[in-house]
Amino acid sequence: MEEEYSHSSTSPQEVFLSHTRRRFLQTATGLGAAAWAAPILRAQSQAGDPPKKIGIALVGLGKLSEGQLAPALQKTKLCKLTGLVSGHPEKAREWAKKYDVPEKNIYNYENFDTIKDNSDIDVIYIVLPNSMHAEYTIRAAKAGKHVLCEKPMAVSAKECEAMIAACRAAKRQLAIGYRLHFEPFNLEMARLSREKVFGAVKVIEAAAGFRIGDPTQWRLKKALAGGGSMLDVGVYALQAARYISGEEPVSVSAAWTKTDPVKFKDVEEETIQFTLRFPSGCVANCTGTYATRMSRWYAGAEDGWFELAPAFGYGPFKGRTSGPDGIKDIDLQNVNHFEAEMDAFAACLLNNTPTTVPGEEGLRDLRITEAIYQAAASGKAVALKA
Ligand code: NAD
Repeated sequence: MEEEYSHSSTSPQEVFLSHTRRRFLQTATGLGAAAWAAPILRAQSQAGDPPKKIGIALVGLGKLSEGQLAPALQKTKLCKLTGLVSGHPEKAREWAKKYDVPEKNIYNYENFDTIKDNSDIDVIYIVLPNSMHAEYTIRAAKAGKHVLCEKPMAVSAKECEAMIAACRAAKRQLAIGYRLHFEPFNLEMARLSREKVFGAVKVIEAAAGFRIGDPTQWRLKKALAGGGSMLDVGVYALQAARYISGEEPVSVSAAWTKTDPVKFKDVEEETIQFTLRFPSGCVANCTGTYATRMSRWYAGAEDGWFELAPAFGYGPFKGRTSGPDGIKDIDLQNVNHFEAEMDAFAACLLNNTPTTVPGEEGLRDLRITEAIYQAAASGKAVALKA
């Protein structure tokens, strides 16, 4: 029987670490994502059925789909690429040939809703410009499909609420593409914080960014992107601050800036800096930027520190901690983030368990993001409801 999925107001760290015990122990011992999938596949074959893989359709065949998702779907153990949605029929046909997707499973944006009749497709993965996430998530839910939606979940909290309601009404799962929730280094660092290995974390610094190129791209158009660097990369710094502190912020202050008013004429921020204050008194200073490459975070605790740099790209990552005999490297296996993310969602669907990265997690980020924008525009701190 289908279940309705909902999530309680668990702390961000608990949500982040809820699958860690199972996953972390295995990845830390070098088994990786493939190994934790094995019991599910074994259970299926013991039942005498051929292992069913969850069918995923990619909507939007841009850079992320081309460079990361489609290749990762050739390696996933629990899911596979079974559908393509594109506005470019030639491109879709080429992809279908390359990835062995039947031509009948190619859709465009106009006939997208007829995907409801296609039993090869269980999940719609939304990989479109940010302002299109809400519309396609809602249409996918109405077509009776589960949804994996890229970050940022949407461009407003109101849109996130509508997406959650649509998936709930359709009794379908909605997961957000927070790939670092399945990444061993970030998981280990969240564990160090939760278990107070270096005492309570007091100060966090997190910075994510890259130097943006083509001035005509959708990321620089407010109608498609919803904002500037905050929604694109600032969300990584925000997420890290939440899962490293293990708390939800009670107030934010922020400032934005641009060094090229022509290139950034349509969005407020090339760079945004925001400070989150948490109930314990812990504070996080965060940066999201389109001006330069940044990929690191640092957690200063009572009795030591731990840091990750690089921390947000596709890897490999490097982690360090303070130690009695000097700086200590964290030795973990680097995994393919997208393979781990998609297999984790497929495992939830096969086992009928709720995703650990639900729409509610994306909604929390959008609510905080709106407060950050309000604080940057007004120059005043903005309080957040607990
Ligand atoms: P992209 O520009 O390379 O691809 C966007 C796709 O959307 C293209 O196939 C394009 O044809 C299609 N599209 C449909 N309607 C469009 C329109 N009106 N304007 C522009 N494109 C339109 O973008 P991308 O880098 O693949 O990003 C897609 C999504 O994935 C974004 O939400 C982004 O934030 C997210 N993303 C996530 C990660 C991650 O690490 N999780 C990395 C990159 C991008």
